[in-house]
Amino acid sequence: MPLPKKRHSSCRGKKNRTHWKIAKSTLVPCPQCKTLKAPHRVCPVCGAYAGRQAIEIKTKKTEKKKES
Ligand SMILES: [Zn+2]
Repeated sequence: MPLPKKRHSSCRGKKNRTHWKIAKSTLVPCPQCKTLKAPHRVCPVCGAYAGRQAIEIKTKKTEKKKES
């Protein structure tokens, strides 16, 4: 296995890592409730996707209704 001949300084390692950056996530407004959401994903606020209700959003009120 190849081995480095000389040790790099800590400064040199840190200089390499200055290019490591977190990519900013893309957000698009939901067509139904206008809140920002990830593109091509079901809206976590209203549960809409492609102009229809894809999932049911559970809230404390809806959970109580089902129990009684
Ligand atoms: Zn929405």
